[in-house]
Amino acid sequence: ATGALGALKYGQLQIIPERFTKIYNEWLEGIRDWNISRQLWWGHRIPAWYCDTCGQITVAREDPPVCAHCGSGRIHQDPDVLDTWFSSWLWPFSTLGWPDDTHDLRRYYPTSVLETGYDIIFFWVARMVMAGIHFLGIVPFHTIYLHGLVRDEQGRRMSKSFGNGIDPIDVIEQYGTDALRFTLMTSSTPGNNTNLSMNRIVGNRNFANKLWNASRFVIGQTEDIAAGVPPFDSLKAHTLADRWIISRAERLTSSVSRLMDEYQFGEAGRQIFEFIWSEYCDWYIEVAKMQLQQSTKDRENTAQILRAVLDRTLRLLHPFMPFVTEEIWQHLYADTPPDQRPASALIIAPWPEMAGEEQATRIDAAAEEQFGLLQEIITRIRDARKQAGVEPGRLITVILAGGAKSGLLKQQATLLAQLARTEAPRIERRLATKPEQALALVAGGVEVYLPLTGMLDIQKELARLDTEIEAVRTAIQRSKSMLNNPMFVERARPTVVEKERDTLAASLDTLAKLTSRRTELAG
Ligand SMILES: [Zn+2]
Repeated sequence: ATGALGALKYGQLQIIPERFTKIYNEWLEGIRDWNISRQLWWGHRIPAWYCDTCGQITVAREDPPVCAHCGSGRIHQDPDVLDTWFSSWLWPFSTLGWPDDTHDLRRYYPTSVLETGYDIIFFWVARMVMAGIHFLGIVPFHTIYLHGLVRDEQGRRMSKSFGNGIDPIDVIEQYGTDALRFTLMTSSTPGNNTNLSMNRIVGNRNFANKLWNASRFVIGQTEDIAAGVPPFDSLKAHTLADRWIISRAERLTSSVSRLMDEYQFGEAGRQIFEFIWSEYCDWYIEVAKMQLQQSTKDRENTAQILRAVLDRTLRLLHPFMPFVTEEIWQHLYADTPPDQRPASALIIAPWPEMAGEEQATRIDAAAEEQFGLLQEIITRIRDARKQAGVEPGRLITVILAGGAKSGLLKQQATLLAQLARTEAPRIERRLATKPEQALALVAGGVEVYLPLTGMLDIQKELARLDTEIEAVRTAIQRSKSMLNNPMFVERARPTVVEKERDTLAASLDTLAKLTSRRTELAG
């Protein structure tokens, strides 16, 4: 125990999260004798034989034919087996061939990180450290990473009698191994329990599908334009969107690498998810669809960026979703001759390296800010369209007062129009008079006006409002006549009367809003 305590004290060993060092130390400081025999069906049998003639005990590696003390053949082996943890504490080196001096033992011992649950720190973890120091003179690993325990959705322990257990095999059959693995890795922080939610597993199955479909699109659209995958560092940006996605991929790589080094797997996974789902799929692929329609040079360049960024994200996601990423990666490199691939499989392909200074130049804060502004404007316009009930296919008019940003907006006018589904936008530094009959929004300091005539069929909308106003007026009349009737007010229960007053107030409020909207529209 002294050695195992010292290993932690003097830094040969670290425990994540650190608060569990207390349990480790307390157990080793108060260490007690350990009864290593158990009456179980399964386990290593205790190598001790009792002599029925002289009563002495023979202990041997090989089964002895006779008693070592008196030579009698009447001996029998102890019926007990060794405690499970007695076998388990040998695990880090017995699996490598110990007690033989094997190649594996020399190559792989000591190991690096032990990943396990916090509930077996003294059963298993501390004992492995003791055994490693005792039998091989060195700690079996330098880091102990403790995960939380998996609970059900309401945070209860899963138990057979309670019937709330989730069988991983069922989940895998229904949603896939990747979805389950990703969920377990991203819904926990070290040492804290996880409430396993089926909704999250479904969401992550959808994520795997989204990645699969996007990759199929990218590979299908680009394989005739740009074969292979160019090195990430050789990518050239032709457009603002190119600069943006390269910069974002670079930032993600640096952030995820740091989080992995700090054992923050949950946060790393969440960042990769966000990047793939919203930045790569929802934004860059949409922009790339337009860029792939342009000159040969632009097409080639866009195809190369699509492929190289996909390669990069697959490498980052691989530890979280090994199966779908490997499959896509093999397709991505299908046309690359084996000797020109970075590796024969993604599982042994190198982790993206951050090559110091060189790499930092790929992060482009200006591009991120500028593209971010476009995203905000486009999102606001899309939301407004949805709220106003504009048909998805319909092009609407847009007027932008961009101030200092108007130069950028003019450069990106085509992209803006395509993604927000608008006519060619009218862009000014500032507007002398504000457009009438227009929805006004502000996004990142830019004023956005959507003339309603372009969005809606005004006559139809007026007719719809008239019908609605008529219905509300009828409701108001009914409420008023009830409340003016003394029979009702005196005889009905007070709560019923109160409720009717509330209904009337709400109807009057709706009427005010509808009439003001009608006046606005009619101009
Ligand atoms: Zn004997």
